[in-house]
Amino acid sequence: MEIKKQVNTKPANSAGSLAGGGRKRDSKIKDFAGPVKTIGGNEAFMGARSKNSSKFKANSSKQSNSQNRNENRSRYHNSSRDKQSGVQNSSRNRVNPGSRDQSVSQNGSRDKMNIKTEKQLVNEPRFTAQKVDGQKTSIHADDTLKIIGLGGMEETGGKNCTLFEYKDDIVIIDMGLMFPSEDMPGIDYVIPDVTYLEKNKNKIRGMVVTHGHLDHIGAIPYVYEKIGSPAIYSAPLSIGILKSKLEEFGLDRGAKLNNIKIGDTIQLGVFKIRTFKLTHSIPQTMGLAIDTPEGLFVYVTDWKFDHTPADGQPADFSALAMLGGEKPVALLSESTNVERPGVSVSEKEIEDSMVKIYDKVKGRLIIATFSTLISRIQQILKVAHKFNRKVAFVGRSMVNTVEIATSLEAMNIPPNTVIDPKDLKKYPDNKIVLVCTGSQGEDNAALSRIATGQHRTIKIKQGDTVVLSSSPIPGNERAVSGLMDNLYREGARVIYQKLMGVHTSGHAKQEDLKLMIALIKPKYLIPIHGERHRLMLHGQIAADMGLIPEDRSLVADDGQVIEFSKGVGKVTNKRVPASYVMVDGLGVGDIGNIVLRDRKAMAQDGIFVIIVTVDHKTGEIATSPDIISRGFIYMRENEQLVHKARAEIKKSFSRYSKQKNGPHADWNMIRGKIRDEISEFLFNETERRPMVIPVVIEV
Ligand SMILES: [Zn+2]
Ligand SMILES: [Zn+2]
Repeated sequence: MEIKKQVNTKPANSAGSLAGGGRKRDSKIKDFAGPVKTIGGNEAFMGARSKNSSKFKANSSKQSNSQNRNENRSRYHNSSRDKQSGVQNSSRNRVNPGSRDQSVSQNGSRDKMNIKTEKQLVNEPRFTAQKVDGQKTSIHADDTLKIIGLGGMEETGGKNCTLFEYKDDIVIIDMGLMFPSEDMPGIDYVIPDVTYLEKNKNKIRGMVVTHGHLDHIGAIPYVYEKIGSPAIYSAPLSIGILKSKLEEFGLDRGAKLNNIKIGDTIQLGVFKIRTFKLTHSIPQTMGLAIDTPEGLFVYVTDWKFDHTPADGQPADFSALAMLGGEKPVALLSESTNVERPGVSVSEKEIEDSMVKIYDKVKGRLIIATFSTLISRIQQILKVAHKFNRKVAFVGRSMVNTVEIATSLEAMNIPPNTVIDPKDLKKYPDNKIVLVCTGSQGEDNAALSRIATGQHRTIKIKQGDTVVLSSSPIPGNERAVSGLMDNLYREGARVIYQKLMGVHTSGHAKQEDLKLMIALIKPKYLIPIHGERHRLMLHGQIAADMGLIPEDRSLVADDGQVIEFSKGVGKVTNKRVPASYVMVDGLGVGDIGNIVLRDRKAMAQDGIFVIIVTVDHKTGEIATSPDIISRGFIYMRENEQLVHKARAEIKKSFSRYSKQKNGPHADWNMIRGKIRDEISEFLFNETERRPMVIPVVIEV
């Protein structure tokens, strides 16, 4: 998938952090209340809520299901087995010296012998895994090949990452990030769970990156050191983009980045990986033919067939057909557009639309697209040159990507075409093209700021034409529609996909998928990159062709182990951890289900904080209770309700504080009672269920 950015829904309200981690919360409450000693927090309030809220019950049971699922997943977690690794390593080194950790850029035919010898090694029990029912089963040091998707097997456009493992060797293919869905408020990204790789980092022989999109490289900076900083291999453009990402994290120096030419072969442990060209929406996308002791596996990442792509180099059909002749065991192929019939629309058709637009438009042209759609940007440049228009790139990510792509000769800038945005005034409107990000209506992107008049230098004027050269990603439709309204209001005309072919997907449609299956002729199909229904549909398409029976389409979940032994493949019950690891600001993986649940509850119903100040000598309420409401009611317009609530709180407090035995009341009990009763009271008054957080402070 192309880069996706959902409109950020991070709560701006300061109360948003109240239900965060325990420590944070306490300090926040002190900030609100000022005074001396805070007793208790809101640990138990969720339970109290669920008692009297059927709506919430549904949520919380759903939540606990997913929690269970995650717990189950971590229970499947393979326990580590440090002991034997040394033994196995040394024996492997003996058998196959020099292959370890080494990049061999060659087309040589080495290791066939070695691989055979290695197959004969004694099988030792290596590690154990727990099955769903908690029974221990062991995964032997057998000669099975394991294929594990840490991401991309349950989601489209998400955290793609696939592992190939054989004995002591693991190869990682891609390590992408996913943009959060609507039910993950405040989350920036989701990345794969690399627990399994951390535990097995001594087995990692390298990582191969198929192309430079964020859903294939974006998680690398977050996990790179954790998994032992393995060597990374890819084509120059992907390496260039990755390098600039690593620079942002200060990791570029220690990174072992290796440029390879598409067509090169690399040997990583027992895996011999041949690379071949595929077409996609970014140049230098490569497919992988992975020779393993279990036979040949063909991995085609994001791809489509395009006979007239922007960079003029169609997919290498002869390479694909030749691979088909080698009787591959399995094809791993993407399922993003499996629901769409027909063949992919070529980038050339978009170019033709662009020509029509350039031909007609008399004013400035503003074209918005993803900064990583390098092929699209290339076309815009090409057509601009033809029409003698000057192109200015607006926005940091756009400028960055163009710089990287140009310096690596992955983008060809026609002479005298690109100008600095500062020089726009020197040219008449009909000689100008602005290229910017923001086609998804993202808040901070250049186009949104231009559309709302907030951009520093660029303002919309009468006669401008804006082209949205992408289609709205599901979930972004509203933001895009708002963006278009704003542009029209400012006086621009907008051209978008529904009106004219100004965008095409970079992903294979049904007829492309069929052609790939027919060319590769694999024994098994392993559909990747999609939710289960898409993966299943991909399998059905192969079955309908009569080429791969349905039981030879292996559909797995994220983390579920697919095994091949003696030519037979199966989806096993073994699992490695593959939960969603969420990135929020500087925190990686610290946001869990509880915090997300709180965020959702607050977003839906708001919060109602009650601060009761108690005189520690008398045990009586010292001042009238303080109330803070966020996202529930506007207090100034609901004074009566606030007044009544205060009275209820006092009543409730005195009812339970009188039950104390001895000098100290049971504040936890009292807080619980206040929470329950005030929740009930507020529901009766408003039929709303805010999160009620009582705090008792002794002074
Ligand atoms: Zn992708
Ligand atoms: Zn892609």
